Formats: sequence, C-alpha cells, structure tokens
Amino acid sequence: MTLNSSFDIIILGAGISGMSAAMHCIKQGKRPLLIEATANFGGRARSFEDRVSGDIIDNGQHVMMGCYASFFELIEEIGMMHKIQKQKYLTIPFHFTNGEKDLLIAKGFANIHGPIGMALGMLRLKFLNIRDKRSMLLFALRLKLGICKPGSMTAKEFLLSEEQSDRLIDLIWTPVILATMNGNPEEVSAKIFVTVLRLAFFGSGDASSLYIPQCGLSELFEPFESWMNEHGGKMLRSIGVQSIDIENNQVIGVTLQDGRRVESSNVVSAIPPHALQKIIPNALHQHSYFSMLEQIRYSPIVSLYLWFDTSFPEIDLSAVMNAKTQWIFKKSTTMKSAKSLLALTISAGDDMVGYSTEEIANLCANEVRQCFPEMQDAQLIHWKVIKEKSATVLIDPDTEIQRPNPKSPVDGLIIAGDWTNTGLPATLEGAALSGKIAASLI
Ligand SMILES: Cc1cc2nc3c(=O)[nH]c(=O)nc-3n(C[C@H](O)[C@H](O)[C@H](O)COP(=O)(O)OP(=O)(O)OC[C@H]3O[C@@H](n4cnc5c(N)ncnc54)[C@H](O)[C@@H]3O)c2cc1C
Repeated sequence: MTLNSSFDIIILGAGISGMSAAMHCIKQGKRPLLIEATANFGGRARSFEDRVSGDIIDNGQHVMMGCYASFFELIEEIGMMHKIQKQKYLTIPFHFTNGEKDLLIAKGFANIHGPIGMALGMLRLKFLNIRDKRSMLLFALRLKLGICKPGSMTAKEFLLSEEQSDRLIDLIWTPVILATMNGNPEEVSAKIFVTVLRLAFFGSGDASSLYIPQCGLSELFEPFESWMNEHGGKMLRSIGVQSIDIENNQVIGVTLQDGRRVESSNVVSAIPPHALQKIIPNALHQHSYFSMLEQIRYSPIVSLYLWFDTSFPEIDLSAVMNAKTQWIFKKSTTMKSAKSLLALTISAGDDMVGYSTEEIANLCANEVRQCFPEMQDAQLIHWKVIKEKSATVLIDPDTEIQRPNPKSPVDGLIIAGDWTNTGLPATLEGAALSGKIAASLI
C-alpha cells in the first residue's frame, strides 16, 4: 500500500538533525514528513521518568555552549529558550579528590569576555604554574592568529607539537577534549579540536558560556510536533523506515516497517550510521561513499544519577579532577527522603562500561564524598547508571577525512546527522547544523 503523500520531502529520524532539517525546510516554504522509529523526539537527547524517585532524568546530562547557534535557532523557534539557563561568563568550579578546589571565570575587566576573558580566567587558576600559564597563553595566541597546523594529527600529537606540558594536557586539555569530543586526546582529530577551541573556548562574546537545560530534554523538544503541524509539516511516530527506495540512481521514497510505502523524490536521512547501513539497498554498500558506514567507531558515555541524604553545596556544576567522574551537575529532586540529586558524567568511558552499575555508582559516590567535605558522611539512598555504549561516533583523524558530505551519490538522497561532515564534533550543534545544511540542499 502506498500512503498518499502531498509532502515535498521525507525526513528520517526526529533527533536534533531531523528536527532541524524539518524546521529549515518549513522556513523555505516546503512541506516535510518526519518519520521517527520511536515514540519520542530528541533521539539521543531524551528524558524519562525514574520509577523509584519519580524524577524526570535525561539519558545523560546535556550541556550546550554559547556558540551553539544552529541548535538555539531550533529551540528559539519552538519557544523553549526560557527553559535553558545561561552562564554570563564561562564559570567552572574545579574540585580535586584531595579536597582542593579552584575556579575558572572567563571574565575580563569591564565585563570583557571572549578570548581576553578566557585568557585572564586561565591566568587566575591556582593549580597551574607560571610556565604552564605562559605556554597555554602562547598556544591560545597561535590559535587566534591561525598559525597552528593540526594537519592529520591526533589532539595529543598536536598538543605536544605546540609544547603543551603533560600536566597541561592532563589538567586542562584532556577534560576539554573529553567534554566536547567524547574521546581521548590520543584518539581524536586535532583538526576538530582546533575548531572547538577557536569557536567555543576562544570564540567571541559568550561563545564559551555553558547553557544548561532546566527541564528534561524531552520536555525541551515537546512543542516541536505542534509547531510542525501548524506550519504544514507532519510527523509519523513509532514506525521505523525499513528501506530507502531507489530506482535508476534516483530516490523514489521509503518503505515503512509495516510495509506501507511513501513516495518522494527527496529524502533526508537523519539517522545514525549503523541505522542507515541497514536501510540502503545492498548494492550501495560497496560504493565508496557508503562503505565508510561499517568502519565507524563509537565512543560510550556513562551517566549517573545519585540521590543523597545530604544537601549538596550551592554550586550548579563542578569539573572533577584526578577521578573517574568528570562532571557533576546539581539537579532538583522530588524524592522525599533525598536532600540532593546529582548528575555525573563520564565521557569516553570505555574502561567503565565493563563495571557493574552498582560498582560505578559506589565508586563515583565515593569521589563525590572525597571532593566535597560537606558530603563526607552522605549516604547514597538511590542511584541510576546509564551506559550509552554508542553515545557518539569517535572522530579520529581517519574518520574525520571519511565523514560523508550531505549530498550522497544517489539523486535526491541527502545525509544528515552529528556524524556527517560538519567540521564540528558530534554534538547537538553539529546535529542541528547538519539538518540546516541538508535543508538548504533540497
Ligand atoms: C549520554 C549523552 C550525553 C551527551 N551529551 C552531550 C552534551 O552535553 N552536549 C552536546 O552537544 N551533545 C551531547 N551528546 C551528543 C548529542 O546527543 C548528539 O550529538 C545528538 O543528539 C545527535 O543527534 P542526531 O539527530 O544526529 O542523531 P540521533 O539523536 O541519534 O537521532 C536519530 C533518530 O533517528 C531515529 N531512527 C533511527 N533509525 C530509524 C529508522 N530506520 N527510521 C526512522 N527513524 C529512525 C532514532 O530513533 C533517533 O530518534 C550526548 C549524547 C549522549 C548519548
């Protein structure tokens, strides 16, 4: 059976890239049909109810930065910017497991922020010595002047070539790389790392400020479906696409999992590489454009939610140093017996994936106690550990070269998603930008 389609374009996947593609198609006066395999929006950025506490938690804490222009375009359009709390300047408290602490405030004189604020913020850090500060500032200057040549190096090779000490790499650059690229410095592409530093950390205005959602991620995207309907688009949920149909190298539509067909000469795939690989015709698997799909490696993120019987100090977040835990975010809880709820993040957590969820919870709860004297005797009353084994693609130098451009060799088939060739890491912003680019090519 063929569904009667009066739509100009079919978009597969209602993650950020699919929603962004649909929104930009609508803005260009086109009518998209967005097809999503699950019942939800947001893809890898979603939330659910924790049954024990009744709290809404995300599948992993998501943080945005001031430079997320394409992502914020989407959130602004659906009227949800008020649900995202913005830092005025990048402000990061650092906590060490020996109880020491420090604070980065990327703020200059007379409210100057941007690169000067960042440089001054770094100069004020107590845990760096004068030599480290000097080589970090020289590096920042070389980045700003565009002298650095990352080539096809890994981030670690590049940092060493820029005379960054092991201490600087461990204490500053590794946390930045883990948080923005979900990979280790020894693995990730230096080219993308340099882009992150230029756009975000040493970008202008509030580019480096952190933006943190104040509601569950699913609530953040909730108005999207009605926005689509009001603007002439439509969404099919809870039904996956089984195949992308192609005739004479021209896309002709898609077949749904229940056998129904939807015709269109324009299809945007906004689904992850492994999902795309399953729904393209076998003949295309050998094509150089698509053959990279099976070579892609993924990197895990382990996220924890810890409910304690003790109040957490009055800070929104903390970067945890010399520990398995990388970030702690303070959340609110409705659980009566709990005085605090913390969301913890471990990016590129390959070595943690093999541990049991209980072991991870206990290990990280201990790190919280070590970092914060106020939490020394805190009892863990409930925990939830989420292992996203394929959280993002791992963008190493080889993958960076192979990331596909949006225009596929099949006429009418455009490829989007955080993993495609956006020049950005696999993030919410990369996903939103890829959707925007896809829409511009139809
Ligand atoms: C735990 C975790 C923490 C993260 N933290 C951050 C962060 O702090 N900041 C940040 O910027 N990024 C973060 N990310 C990355 C961010 O979530 C992703 O980059 C982004 O959500 C990817 O969006 P996407 O649209 O490209 O893909 P997806 O979100 O994967 O969307 C693809 C959609 O396609 C659907 N689909 C798949 N197959 C089919 C099919 N055959 N038919 C129809 N639909 C299909 C899926 O159900 C899904 O909804 C994090 C990711 C994880 C997992």
